[in-house]
Amino acid sequence: MGKYSVAFLACNRTQNKYDQICECNPNSLLRTFYENDKIFVKDLPGMWRYYDWLPVEGIIDECKGRTISYKSEKLASYLGLSRLWIAFNGYWPERDAYMMTSTFKDLESFPTMQRVKEQNNDDIMVVASAGNTARAFAHVCSLTGQPLLLVVPEKSVHRLWTINESTDSIFLLSVDGDYTDAITLANKIAEMDGFINEGGAKNVARRDGMGTVMLDAVMESGELPEHYFQAVGSGTGGIAVWEASMRLIGDGRFGDKLPKLHLAQNMPCAPLYKLWSGNGDITSTCPNEMYDDVLFNRKPPFDITGGVRDALESTNGLIYPIENYQAQKGQHLFEELEGIDINPASAVAVASLIQAVKLGHVGSDETILLNITGGGKERLKRDMNLRPLEVSHSISVGEEDIEMKIIDKVSEVLRLKRQQGEL
Ligand SMILES: *Cc1c(COP(=O)(O)O)cnc(C)c1O
Repeated sequence: MGKYSVAFLACNRTQNKYDQICECNPNSLLRTFYENDKIFVKDLPGMWRYYDWLPVEGIIDECKGRTISYKSEKLASYLGLSRLWIAFNGYWPERDAYMMTSTFKDLESFPTMQRVKEQNNDDIMVVASAGNTARAFAHVCSLTGQPLLLVVPEKSVHRLWTINESTDSIFLLSVDGDYTDAITLANKIAEMDGFINEGGAKNVARRDGMGTVMLDAVMESGELPEHYFQAVGSGTGGIAVWEASMRLIGDGRFGDKLPKLHLAQNMPCAPLYKLWSGNGDITSTCPNEMYDDVLFNRKPPFDITGGVRDALESTNGLIYPIENYQAQKGQHLFEELEGIDINPASAVAVASLIQAVKLGHVGSDETILLNITGGGKERLKRDMNLRPLEVSHSISVGEEDIEMKIIDKVSEVLRLKRQQGEL
């Protein structure tokens, strides 16, 4: 089968490895099956050390970042936990953490763009994002020069920056709507010839990339944790970690029990929490007033086969509704005790751990993995020059023939930018 194959378990049929839609059941996620059922760390840069369980055939050398897992002392002792591990995703030079956009979205963008490279075409990758995902894709594409169309709500444009100089291959489209409008538009464009959809949770490269969080933690600690904590919007990280854990069980050296997923959402804008518990009303003002609006996703992959519901059911997992004041407390506590700034989404995860300890959901001697999905942005700002990404074109969602206009504009501008870059 080569290094890996892509299939849906129940239909016993292998598909083209770059497919995103399952042929025998479109409402199900395809999954990667790797030839090597044991994982050995490779002597490769950044996250590529987990090459054996990444759906790639080659690497983007410039990727220096990976998850850094370590055993917590101060936060652990404050919470009365003896085996608390932290999977840190972000920038923290003292711990050799070099994820240069400061969130774990880099774990998705590098393998995704590596696969585009493998397919040898000049298609333009289309990504809709309100912030962190856009930064992660901009980062890779400014390193590789691969063409990228970012579709971003006007209000989020200020969050886009890169540490790299050349952004000639990036087209930033600002939309006067919300994140959902941006996604709808991006999906329409991605269907056209010459464009590729990054695919969200359906993209195995995104999931297996995020799965390296669990691989890293287990390589460091030597065993599968009993509990896993993460703040979620789409829940893709939760699915990814569940899949990686099944592979680690298959490896045979790290334990035979799946970690229990403890996922956290930010109230009141918590669609996954509502789907799972039936509680909580999503107000029309969402995502305003959220502690971190990257955690707002109106259409998370919950009911799809192999999605968030399956991951929760299979691990006996749960979702925590976290209020802003709790997240704030979690943020202060973590930053003070562990000594690095964290992204507000990560603070929501810290808050869920505090709650779990209070509620007795975790035992003081159980192994716990806390995913700090983003951190060290303030630190990065001090150390480096963050260059804002410039808007290439602004559009109003109500405009007519919007896709055609965009396509013309994108090809024109990308060609121009590249010519200028070459001069
Ligand atoms: C995207 C993101 C999340 C949520 O991730 P999902 O698993 O896709 O829901 C959490 N934290 C940060 C910092 C993020 O960028």
